[in-house]
Amino acid sequence: MKDFFRVLKLYLPPYKKNLLFAFLFNILSTLFIISSMAAMAPMLQVILQDDQEVRALMEWSFDSEAIENNVYYYITLIKDHYGAGTSLLLLGIVVISMTLLKTGFIYLGSYTMVGIRNGVTRDIRNKIYKKMVQLPLGFYSDERKGDMMARSTIDVQEVEASVMSSLDMFLKNPIIIIGVLISMFFVSLKLTLFVFIVLPIMGFIIGRIGKSLKKTSMEGQNKIGEILGIIEESLSGLRIIKAFNAEERITRRFRDETENYRQINNRLQRRRDLAHPTSEFLGTIMVVIIFWYGGSLILNQDNSLDFSFFIVYLGMFYQIINPAKAFSQAAYNIQKGMAAYERIEMVLNAELSIKEHEGSTEMSEFKNNIEYRNISFSYNNEVNVLKNVSLTIPQGKTVALVGQSGSGKTTFVDLLPRFYDVQEGGIYIDGVNIKDLKLFDLRELMGNVNQDAILFNDTIYNNITFGVESATMDEVIHAAKVANAHEFIASTEEGYETKIGDRGSKLSGGQRQRLSIARAILKNPPILILDEATSALDTESERLVQDALENLMKNRTSLVIAHRLSTVRNADQICVFNEGEIVETGTHDELIGIDGIYKKLHSMQMS
Ligand code: ADP
Repeated sequence: MKDFFRVLKLYLPPYKKNLLFAFLFNILSTLFIISSMAAMAPMLQVILQDDQEVRALMEWSFDSEAIENNVYYYITLIKDHYGAGTSLLLLGIVVISMTLLKTGFIYLGSYTMVGIRNGVTRDIRNKIYKKMVQLPLGFYSDERKGDMMARSTIDVQEVEASVMSSLDMFLKNPIIIIGVLISMFFVSLKLTLFVFIVLPIMGFIIGRIGKSLKKTSMEGQNKIGEILGIIEESLSGLRIIKAFNAEERITRRFRDETENYRQINNRLQRRRDLAHPTSEFLGTIMVVIIFWYGGSLILNQDNSLDFSFFIVYLGMFYQIINPAKAFSQAAYNIQKGMAAYERIEMVLNAELSIKEHEGSTEMSEFKNNIEYRNISFSYNNEVNVLKNVSLTIPQGKTVALVGQSGSGKTTFVDLLPRFYDVQEGGIYIDGVNIKDLKLFDLRELMGNVNQDAILFNDTIYNNITFGVESATMDEVIHAAKVANAHEFIASTEEGYETKIGDRGSKLSGGQRQRLSIARAILKNPPILILDEATSALDTESERLVQDALENLMKNRTSLVIAHRLSTVRNADQICVFNEGEIVETGTHDELIGIDGIYKKLHSMQMS
């Protein structure tokens, strides 16, 4: 419960005004519940019991005796005038009008709460998405994508369904329960004391069941994360699953997980369903006790309770049965929802390990050089993927990184935009350590073109202008022309407004690549990082892409990872990576002359 209030305190402040209104409406509805019941007592007494009639008016004053006397007096007048039967009907009309007001205010209360509830859910969703995008790439090697998807969708939904829907109960029901209980005290002290003995026992039993729900619920949410993970993986690997006839195998794996999930959910829901019968049973016990005790008070002619008041008392008690039941249900739901919120919180509280410290330097231009100074890097703090590597890249030059797969080339270039941070040494741009630069400025200096062009399910126009806030159509067309992409874009039906499908699936590999080059051209960064940009293409598209890349690289500083050595022949400098170290550097001709790894790689590719 403590956690629940902590969460409320975190998310409710922006909705203070709505909360105040909801609170007000709930107070008003409680007042009408009490007064509709309270109005019944004197009327019933006068109408049903002749000895309660009052025929003399007292002088009005703020004195309970005078008020009671005069209320009874007017009711007696009505009874005399209309007769007992019609007066009962009038009583009915009074109760109905009060109830109309009561239910009206209850609705207004819920109406206001719906706004708060959906607002808070939206806020949680936005917060977790923002954090997901902010988290460094390194975070995702440990946490699986499916699990993250589950946290940002299913867990948020769970919080909405349980915690937020309980909020209404929490705001409304205690007010009704407390208000009505207090007035029940006034009607009959003895009877209400009885109720008070049973209520805590009821609360205790329900609380015990609720607690055990949380753990099982957590297990269930974790499991659904795993299931989503498998779905995500299967969809993106469908081609391979089919090619290897692995449908059966992967279906079996999926079936095991869903079976496991079924068992957890059975346990969870069966326990949760205990809430209703338990509270119903305990509620009935209370009603029986009230009947028995109240009945015996009347039968014994104990003058602490008369018949009309007993009817009113039962009416009041009836009014709190539903809120009390809903309240106990809410207690269960909150436990379940808090399990989901804990999973969300793990993401929200995850440390942003790539930080920018206060007062970091701004940089809008790149003038001299990029310098890797004795850097070492490890993904897991165990094996060093890069070992004490140094390299200086002068402005305007093209440096090619070659070497066997797994030798650390991608890691090396990923360090420059700070996708990861080095553990030892430092990287400097124009003499400033990149850790001292504003992260936005640092990344603004660079453009990326990767092996698989990363595109979004949107129009061609939006994919090219990605990352550039204000671009005119002319600029976009110019970028597309330089990237050899304008022609194929113009030949599509809707031109720049064509949607390219999931990850650009409606385009060929070369077209995707040229779009991502157009994107880099439009961004116009001084530094370029190209990761095997042409390796997945056939010769013809490779030519087009290669030309586009050459246009892109003009007058820029480029770091190029290449598998095919023919593509980097013209680089100003070639660095050969081997097991996390740069073992050879030089131009193509120089390296061929050394007779080392480069020459071996080269002759392998030539043969
Ligand atoms: P290259 O680009 O030369 O093929 P990489 O830089 O991709 O090499 O990989 C270098 C080493 O780092 C490999 O041994 C690889 O297994 C490991 N590695 C790459 N990415 C990760 C990661 N996200 N988490 C852990 N290890 C990684």
